[in-house]
Amino acid sequence: MATQPKSAITPTRTEDYSEWYQQVVKASDMADRSPVRGCMVIKPWGYALWENIVRELDDLFKATGVKNAYFPLFIPLSFLEKEAEHVEGFAKECAVVTHHRLEKNAAGGLTPAGELAEPLVVRPTSETIIGDSFAKWVSSYRDLPLLINQWVNVVRWEMRTRIFLRTSEFLWQEGHTVHATAEDALERTRLMLDVYTRFVQDYLGMPVIKGRKTASERFPGAVDTLCIEAMMQDRKALQAGTSHFLGQNFAKASGIKFQTAEEKEEFAWTTSWGTSTRMIGGVIMTHGDDDGVIMPPRVSPAHLVLLPIFRNDDERTKVMEYTASLAAELKEIYYHHARVRVEIDERSIGGARGWEWIKKGIPLRVEIGPRDISENAVFVARRDMDHRQKKSFQREVFTGGLCDLLDEIQGNLFQRARAFTDDHTRTIDTPEDFYGFFTPDNLDRPEIHGGFAMSHWCGDASCEAKIKEDLTVTIRSIPLDNAPEKGRCICCGKPSGERVVFAKAY
Ligand SMILES: [Zn+2]
Repeated sequence: MATQPKSAITPTRTEDYSEWYQQVVKASDMADRSPVRGCMVIKPWGYALWENIVRELDDLFKATGVKNAYFPLFIPLSFLEKEAEHVEGFAKECAVVTHHRLEKNAAGGLTPAGELAEPLVVRPTSETIIGDSFAKWVSSYRDLPLLINQWVNVVRWEMRTRIFLRTSEFLWQEGHTVHATAEDALERTRLMLDVYTRFVQDYLGMPVIKGRKTASERFPGAVDTLCIEAMMQDRKALQAGTSHFLGQNFAKASGIKFQTAEEKEEFAWTTSWGTSTRMIGGVIMTHGDDDGVIMPPRVSPAHLVLLPIFRNDDERTKVMEYTASLAAELKEIYYHHARVRVEIDERSIGGARGWEWIKKGIPLRVEIGPRDISENAVFVARRDMDHRQKKSFQREVFTGGLCDLLDEIQGNLFQRARAFTDDHTRTIDTPEDFYGFFTPDNLDRPEIHGGFAMSHWCGDASCEAKIKEDLTVTIRSIPLDNAPEKGRCICCGKPSGERVVFAKAY
């Protein structure tokens, strides 16, 4: 007799967190390695999660007046050169197209030919190419604000890649807006950070800290970068969305000008904001356990799987009929403005079937056997609870209470993540404690360190750099809801007016 494994994923999180992550992705069947280094093949279970993220987030954007459009994948090199800081920030990770056809060579292979007069950069982000269009679209204050978003792929050549977290090609959205005044642009920058915060917390179940980046961590070319940061289960920070106030930098670079009501010509003020398939990595690392992924119900590829149980053809007919009618009934239910998403798995592969769904992280597993049918009941297991804990429900109690049950799981995941983040966040006031907090007890396990340190910082970039050099710890953000508080810089001891969030980061 086979013994039940202790956990479905080996190694466990405490044994080797980064290997656990790779194994969870594999076991959940969300993505595959690609023949191109650093690129992803996103499989249906992973892509369905992305589609739900896109759908929900897109609705939230549109509710604020944003409209979608599409801009070219290629950016002329000269466009990127227009904003000095911007080009410097992205120069090291650009894929560049230099030829436009292939020719047979003497060895029978193919050689790039037809060199382009001007190389084209595969978009790492689209401020400059979109700016070119905006310069044509905007001429009067009546054209403003202009609120545009695009859902696309981008390429940032990465040497060290990790699926969903850091890949050379990834999927994202980038919003770009144009405003008549700095105040309007700043308000939009904050508004989009609020949209991200709401989405990441309420839909992905990840608690975040809203903050402002320091100058050294800012988006290249931005005046101000706002961000949300979440703590993963290895206590590292993951940036889950950024919103940039670009001042007039990109408007000047692209020539986005408008006539004011007083008929004066002025440069406009712009913003940009983005979030990406990285969020999928965040979901895995925030909620996953030693049995695999745990999907937050609101964005889960499916809400539940029906698992019919039968021993012979007679039972099969009866059970499948009941399963089909239950599935039809469930699909008529709306959970959080979307139809309930139902999977049916009638394979008879024993216990392996249930474990596959556990590893995929589906919120509810519903077993239907001949005995349950005779009692008009179903046998339900929740992914956020121990896999052995199953509960029998009368059919109408289950269908009637389904939305509440899914909400309970959604809320539970957020509360667990909140408690974890709180448990590993400390206010630290002495360099000794600070260095101790970030120094792992066991050097073989460098990922086990304190978490988030809320400490004072004088504002000097050299102190920030020293801590990064010593500990690979960076300032994740200066929290937006910070209360002013007098203290001394954790690095140099000079006076400071507020605490910042220090952490190791993805
Ligand atoms: Zn200092």
